[in-house]
Order: sequence, then structure tokens, then C-alpha cells
Amino acid sequence: MSPLKITPADPCPCGSGLVYKNCCQPLHKGGKAPSPEALMRSRYTAYALNLADYIMKTTHPDGEHYQPDKAAWKRDIDVFCKNTTFARLQILSAADDKVMFRATLFAAARDVSFTEISTFRQHNGHWKYFSGAPLER
Ligand SMILES: [Zn+2]
Repeated sequence: MSPLKITPADPCPCGSGLVYKNCCQPLHKGGKAPSPEALMRSRYTAYALNLADYIMKTTHPDGEHYQPDKAAWKRDIDVFCKNTTFARLQILSAADDKVMFRATLFAAARDVSFTEISTFRQHNGHWKYFSGAPLER
């Protein structure tokens, strides 16, 4: 699968029910995420659209997923995005700095869905993805 191609008037891939231009696009254009849930949604959508720069920018520099080699990191994200179909995001709960979600993903025909509790931290006044703990399916 190649990354999704959508227009600003299409439904947002994060499943909010809003159109992209009223949901995750403003964050992708540099807007500030008002909450960890909003950042989580925008990162899922960024994966679906293969916006590697946004994924890197919203990863906390002290977090476990941060990679100092930006070129290699970008290639990894690109490969992941191109080989994954982002079928659905469900926010199961969101409180304080944590968001529990289920991502329904497919790699070729294989179901690679997972449930995770993500932790977010502020960095220079912006929410960033800090770490994730997978849950049993
Ligand atoms: Zn969205």
C-alpha cells in the first residue's frame, strides 16, 4: 500500500468525524496540539499520510523512540508507512498525560493491530510523544 492521498475536505483519517482541514491538518501545518489526545490523533494521521517530519517533530527528544540520526529515522518511518495500511484509530481513554488507543493496521494482509498506552510530555510548551506501553490484545 502507498500512503493515503486525501484532500482537506475528506474525512480525517484519525476517525474524529471531522474533515481533515478542521482536525489534524492545522497541527500538521504547525499548529499547537491542545491536548495529548489531539497530538495522538495527529500522529496517527501523519503515519497514515506518511508525514515523517511531523512524526519526528512530535517525538520527545528524551523519549525512547527518538533517534538522533534523522535521515535513518526518516527512512524507517517511510518504510513503515509505505508497508502499512492504517485502517482505524480508536481512542479508548485519555486523561492527563496518557492516551490509551487501539490502532487497526495491516501489513500486506497480516493484521498488525495493537493497543497501547502512550505517555506524552511537554517540551518547550508543546505536547510530545514520550513513550508507549503495549497492552495485551
Ligand atoms: Zn484528525
